[in-house]
Amino acid sequence: MRTLCLSARDPETAARAAALLRAGELVGIPTETVYGLGADGLNEAAVARIFEAKGRPQDNPLILHIAGPEQLDGLCHDIPQAAWDLAERFWPGPLTMVLPCRDCVPRRTTAGLDTVAVRCPRTAVTREIIRLAGTPVAAPSANLSGKPSTTTARHVLHDLDGYIAAVVDDGPCAVGVESTIVDLSQGAPRLLRPGGISPEQLRAVLGSLTVDQAVTAPIAPGAVVRAPGMKYRHYAPQGQVLIVDGPRERAAAYIRRRFAPGDAVLCYEEELPLYAGCRPTAYGREDDPETLARGLFAALRDLDRADVKTIFARCPPAVGVGCAVRNRLAKAAGFHVISEAEL
Ligand code: AMP
Ligand code: MG
Repeated sequence: MRTLCLSARDPETAARAAALLRAGELVGIPTETVYGLGADGLNEAAVARIFEAKGRPQDNPLILHIAGPEQLDGLCHDIPQAAWDLAERFWPGPLTMVLPCRDCVPRRTTAGLDTVAVRCPRTAVTREIIRLAGTPVAAPSANLSGKPSTTTARHVLHDLDGYIAAVVDDGPCAVGVESTIVDLSQGAPRLLRPGGISPEQLRAVLGSLTVDQAVTAPIAPGAVVRAPGMKYRHYAPQGQVLIVDGPRERAAAYIRRRFAPGDAVLCYEEELPLYAGCRPTAYGREDDPETLARGLFAALRDLDRADVKTIFARCPPAVGVGCAVRNRLAKAAGFHVISEAEL
């Protein structure tokens, strides 16, 4: 199959992408978080092709993307007031809500769960595509399973060229890490995955919020998890990522002592001069964590090479969008962190 690359600026793109989705094809769609691998979320055969193209485990459910909150009632039941409050405040935007799902949603989409994850993306062309397709669009991140997510159309083609009908190119993603996921299906709201909306922003609307332990710690083999996707190795380049915390100079001294040929450093722009000769890649500015979120996956993809062995990574504290950056890097690192005390 030849994969079409459609520009978001072309006025015919939304209609072409929507027609492909209606025909059961796969389309790479831009969102403000990462690029998605979209299919008609109510068409079982189309959804099955998502799992096939990504090599995604069958028990990892998909997020349904909708054009606006008015579509929520048709997909979910027993929607609490908190969901409407969050939708009002954060949609369209990088927030996914898990709610009890109606029978119209195929179990293939929810991986057999009786809940479904729903989000309304901010990217205008994608909401137009969903509206014209007339169906919610199931879309996981448009990368091969286990690899760093895609934040440009070029990344999507790198992983999926020839396996999908088209990709819609809307430039680099504005947020750069996947959506925040909140489970509202079981009483007290629970954060399953940090993302573009921070825990602090959620608490301002919800009052209280429990953070699932899968966000901050590795999951024991065989454990039952609320977000099945959290249990898989994720976002990982071929080399071993090792997070090094602590103050700038001491962390640099530690990394330089251990650095061996074939290793690389993932650091802040401000730190580049400290790592001359250590193959440094900067992914954003320490004083502006949003740039770190935007640059993280592109940097991890650049470092995803057989000749890179250990990647020493500098990582922001889990505050604001830094919470999502830290979660993704910790998962890429298999939670291997050198703390300040170990420097
Ligand atoms: P991705 O689209 O690749 O970012 O992955 C979607 C994430 O949403 C995975 O981590 C899933 O586990 C999570 N998810 C999707 N549906 C549900 C659900 N019904 N309950 C809990 N987590 C979900
Ligand atoms: Mg993903």
